Amino acid sequence: MSTPFKGIETQLIHAGEVRVEGAVCLPVFQSSTFEYSGQGSYHDLKYIRLNNTPNHHALHTKLAAIEGGEAALVMASGMAAISTALIAFLKAGDHLLAQSCLYGGTHSFITQDLPDLGVTFDFIDGNDPDSWAGKLRPETRAIYVETMTNPLLEVPDLRAVVRFARAHDLVSMVDNTFASPVNFRPLAHGFDLSLHSCTKYLNGHSDIVAGCVIGKETHVSRILHKLNHLGGSLDPHACFLLHRGMKTLALRVRQQNENALRLSQFLSAHPAVERVNYPGLETHPQHRRARELFEGCGGVLSFEMRGGVKEADALISRLKLPISAPSLGGVESLITRPVTTSHSGLSREEHARVGINDKLIRVAVGIESPDDLCADFEQALEGL
Ligand code: PLP
Repeated sequence: MSTPFKGIETQLIHAGEVRVEGAVCLPVFQSSTFEYSGQGSYHDLKYIRLNNTPNHHALHTKLAAIEGGEAALVMASGMAAISTALIAFLKAGDHLLAQSCLYGGTHSFITQDLPDLGVTFDFIDGNDPDSWAGKLRPETRAIYVETMTNPLLEVPDLRAVVRFARAHDLVSMVDNTFASPVNFRPLAHGFDLSLHSCTKYLNGHSDIVAGCVIGKETHVSRILHKLNHLGGSLDPHACFLLHRGMKTLALRVRQQNENALRLSQFLSAHPAVERVNYPGLETHPQHRRARELFEGCGGVLSFEMRGGVKEADALISRLKLPISAPSLGGVESLITRPVTTSHSGLSREEHARVGINDKLIRVAVGIESPDDLCADFEQALEGL
């Protein structure tokens, strides 16, 4: 989607805007169906499930503009976007290569639901491109990764993923939720499809669930065809809230980049903390790659304290600012132990295989003052 404005800050505010009766903000078109005006086919009728109301169109244009895609499509949740996109490109008999450490819901969909549809998969180590060819099969059709893994914040070799996909004619898909379009724009690096849980940074206010895919017109229309049948459409009111939230995305994410870096540095220097995972830290194993690819490392970090689960839970209960809740990307800081929340669907063996232990704590920082956040952790760590 080409617009005359290059800056993401400008695109977030102006791309896709339509003036209705002079209103500065696009109103909610709370109408399931629209007057027939000689549309050519069923898919051209305006109907909420067909994802083509004015609220959907405006979002599609804005999302495509900010990641430099030809087209975009919003959906009812991040999982709707992920499952619909995978189903659109994989049929019975096909094979998928997927990164070994993924968001728990995606991991469960690949391991538990895709096999029911006759799709097989192999997990790959995102940091070991030389090992990928060994997993390739004649029926491999797609490769699926995340820009930063949840909750360990590993940065896979994203450039190698694109090279590998092109060499073997695979559709390359990346869940870009953790970076957000402010920090990384996958299509500019050659990915075919970028996916987001818009529930997180894009909406930014922890009040809706939504998802999207962004990519070439041919890819997005293939997913739209499946979505129209599977039915995971985003309601117009949720479209309106997402649209509103997106306007401040750049400001929010830059503050979250700064807050997460400050908190990571503070925790790394604290004697009660054993290990901190944040790609913005020089000690992170993929720090160089993150610096080359990303404009910032986002608002999520994870860490382990000395001691065990007892100390981790004590810390969480002593903190005054972060709310103990799953999710990320909102204006307020949230904290969890992933084995009890985002990754509770994985078995103990799977936790061990992907390197998530019981005492790991994940913090999704908001846009509070970094001084207040660090001070809160300091008081909560005192004596632990
Ligand atoms: N992808 C990532 C990286 C996530 O963290 C999540 C949810 O936490 C999802 C996808 C799923 O998004 P949703 O909850 O909007 O379905």
